[in-house]
Amino acid sequence: MFKNYHDMKILIVEDEIELATSISNYLNCEKYICEVAYDYNSAVDKIESYNYECIILDLNLPDGSGFDIIKLLKMKQSNSGIIIISARNALNDKIEGLDLGADDYLSKPFSLSELNARLRSVIRRRNFEGQIEYKYNEIKIQPDIRKAFVNDRQLELTRKEYDLLIYLITNQRRVLSKETIIEHLWGDYMGIEADSYDALYTHIGNLRKKLQEAGAKDYIETVYAVGYKFNLDK
Ligand code: CA
Repeated sequence: MFKNYHDMKILIVEDEIELATSISNYLNCEKYICEVAYDYNSAVDKIESYNYECIILDLNLPDGSGFDIIKLLKMKQSNSGIIIISARNALNDKIEGLDLGADDYLSKPFSLSELNARLRSVIRRRNFEGQIEYKYNEIKIQPDIRKAFVNDRQLELTRKEYDLLIYLITNQRRVLSKETIIEHLWGDYMGIEADSYDALYTHIGNLRKKLQEAGAKDYIETVYAVGYKFNLDK
């Protein structure tokens, strides 16, 4: 799920050769793989042929508009990030760009380290939080809407059950102590008491039941005297 930055291809669409070159050199040093398109048509050619992690996009191109490139990307249901770089510092350009689906907007002139920071944040968002769904065998999680599914059937989970499922599933194959899970679910401010164990057993029991009733395997293993393990290898 986690990618290395050096696997990430970036497309720079910019007709000012000097600026395009300096962005490309800078980002190459940051271990990105950069390609440059100096005009609308070559940008479209590249987008049709390759997938980019993020596209750094000038709006005013000699043979077209960056806005049309955003429209094309959205039409293709591309999941590339888009950062607009533009000298047109008009508010409505910014609004239009973001409305069309760009992730961010930088006004020229900008510092390369600022661009790099925005790029990292767009990539992080798209890879980690922005991802629409995560699949673990027959279980599917949609974190944006805090919903879980088994074979596309939605689970009716309480807030705590959902949090518990996420914690177990993102720590799959690791043994988690009861105390660790309790601290994660309720915070450590209240201390661990007999009540907390009872609450945990109840939530585990309910979650296990709901998963199985929906058709999932019994992935939650009880590790005697320690805690639990979410074993996706079953
Ligand atoms: Ca330009």
